[in-house]
Amino acid sequence: MTNTENIFTFIDEKAGQEQGYYLDGVISACESWLSGKETPRVTGNVTKEEIRKGLQLAILKGMKQSAQPHHQMTPDAIGILVGYIASSLVRNQNDVTLLDPAAGTGNLLYTVMNSMDGTASASAVEIDDLLVRLAAVSADLLEQPIRFYVQDGLRPLLVDPVDLVISDLPVGYYPDDDNALNFEMMPTEGHAYSHHLFFEQSLNHLKPGGFGLFITTVNLFESDQSELLQKYLKRHAIIRAIIQLPDSLFRNVSHAKFILILQKPTEDMAAKSAPDVMLAKVPDMMDKNLMTQFFRKIDNWIEEM
Ligand code: SAM
Repeated sequence: MTNTENIFTFIDEKAGQEQGYYLDGVISACESWLSGKETPRVTGNVTKEEIRKGLQLAILKGMKQSAQPHHQMTPDAIGILVGYIASSLVRNQNDVTLLDPAAGTGNLLYTVMNSMDGTASASAVEIDDLLVRLAAVSADLLEQPIRFYVQDGLRPLLVDPVDLVISDLPVGYYPDDDNALNFEMMPTEGHAYSHHLFFEQSLNHLKPGGFGLFITTVNLFESDQSELLQKYLKRHAIIRAIIQLPDSLFRNVSHAKFILILQKPTEDMAAKSAPDVMLAKVPDMMDKNLMTQFFRKIDNWIEEM
């Protein structure tokens, strides 16, 4: 068995023995591993990616079974793409700071941090207490420096400006109209869209020149509030790239998403005209040649920035 399989088997067996929710059992198994009481049988030096993948398998099993059917973990294929782009954008920077304002299980954040190993620290915000507990034990096992905030990510955040925001955003109406009034993208009638407010919150927490990489709904620019969004982005952000993801990654094509890359302009950038938006489509991810060409396109785009 591979290390990932051994890690999954260890967590799965322990979680299965616990009474109550399987996901609570996953947390107990991780705590037991962290305390050194019991450990999975692994060979050689186990990597952070092997640990993340073993944990991911157990969390996915738990999510299917019970309490969290609405919280979709970001799939690895997307995490790996976002990780490649994010680490390329900060290639020459030390001590990179990240924020995920809707971090869920942390799977996306950890995939990105593992891709820039050792150089990053992060803040993770999530409203669901169980997911934060899962994310926190995972961070300890992965030895990733992360501060967790169990709160509504659209409420004031005690987080210093960061170099990168990465997030797979919740999509839909934001029910807290009183809080939404603090945002420019609150419409004059009806509820605001939470994904719009997350863009605004993220840009408010980015350093000038910092980037936001968002996984978001494909009909973003076609909604009834898209005019509000476009006006806001024109004033406060540079749209750097729109990257279409393969339909095969989504069970239902109407739930397809894309990666939107925004940059918070520095004063210099704001005075100049906006650069061209890089438009790209991720090819069939099983096709090595096409993927190599895609990554080359990303590299060239970043070099020319
Ligand atoms: N990237 C995550 C992962 O890999 O597990 C998945 C993120 S999931 C698509 C969106 C997350 O946003 C959910 O976990 C949900 O609980 C969280 N969420 C929704 N509304 C929120 C809010 N107002 N503040 C913070 N988190 C919120």
